Amino acid sequence: MYTVCRLNVLSHNFHIQQLERHNMGFELDDNQQKGMVFNVQKFSVHDGPGIRTIVFTKGCPLRCRWCSNPESQLHETDLAFNVGRCLGVSKCGHCTLACPFGSITVGSNDIPKIERSHCKDCEHKPCAEACPAQSLLIYGKERSVEDVLSVVEQDMVFYARSKGGLTISGGEPLLQTDFALALLREAHNRHIRTAIETCGMVQEETLRAAAPLLHNVLFDIKHIDPVIHKEQTGRSNEQILANFKMLVTEFPKLPVLARTPVVPNFNDNGKTIKAICDFLLPFEHVHYEMLPYHRLGTQKYQFLDRPILMGDVQLNNKKFHGLQNIAATILGERFHRPNK
Ligand code: SF4
Ligand code: SF4
Repeated sequence: MYTVCRLNVLSHNFHIQQLERHNMGFELDDNQQKGMVFNVQKFSVHDGPGIRTIVFTKGCPLRCRWCSNPESQLHETDLAFNVGRCLGVSKCGHCTLACPFGSITVGSNDIPKIERSHCKDCEHKPCAEACPAQSLLIYGKERSVEDVLSVVEQDMVFYARSKGGLTISGGEPLLQTDFALALLREAHNRHIRTAIETCGMVQEETLRAAAPLLHNVLFDIKHIDPVIHKEQTGRSNEQILANFKMLVTEFPKLPVLARTPVVPNFNDNGKTIKAICDFLLPFEHVHYEMLPYHRLGTQKYQFLDRPILMGDVQLNNKKFHGLQNIAATILGERFHRPNK
């Protein structure tokens, strides 16, 4: 009897919540809200506490020269071409027939040549569907909150043991504001712990709306100098730093891990790392981590036919260790050395 009553109360509360949300202008049930997602990665141990499932959303306001997820930058789907898997046009050629714009012709060595000017607006990318070798692939797919959370929920037992959960990453996860907030609200309803990895370049109100739904925030602070930040990411850092200050002062109980990707010829020097640590020092509950630049995304630039702006530059390990020592000296135990 108690169970039936309790279910009735829960159901009643749920409908009241739905009504309130409707009155507030939310037209869709959170579970139906859709967003553009390019990957759901299980069993991550690097992007928040414990074992996590990372939902990678598309769209980013920055264009960091070192970005290791170039497929995350545009909101629209991307066409990837892995030349190594192609069967050759004379043996196959399905893609040349499938493209409604005639954008695929025969290039050198019998390999398709793609003229990409129509690809961004070509929503369904039939060439990829026609390719029998998965040489042509689509990065990005519209997925509902229900669909994404059904995958996330498969690992609840691991989250419970490790205090892990869902991390929304990107791209910038809060750029698809309605989707991100619906995903966080519904995760909250399902008792899934939540985190975001944000570049901070979002509307202050969006960050403020997301904060109460989060258990952890991983917040990138890439540089302190607005001019250098703009040169290397396409945008100044003023809004990012203001958002960071707002978040850590208005939500002092929300654990925040500030992170700096340490990138050669951008911020791999003592002066910059010291300036970042000095900026973080007054915010006593904020922890800090430095991530060494890597070249793991290089192949994806080739698949997308985009220039690798970083060339073949590498991060000097010895220098990186020295920079970690600077951070440890300023921030003490609030500085976390990267996991090996
Ligand atoms: S994505 Fe569309 S426009 Fe681009 S090559 Fe494929 S079918 Fe043609
Ligand atoms: S359909 Fe795929 S395998 Fe066939 S020619 Fe085109 S890219 Fe190559």
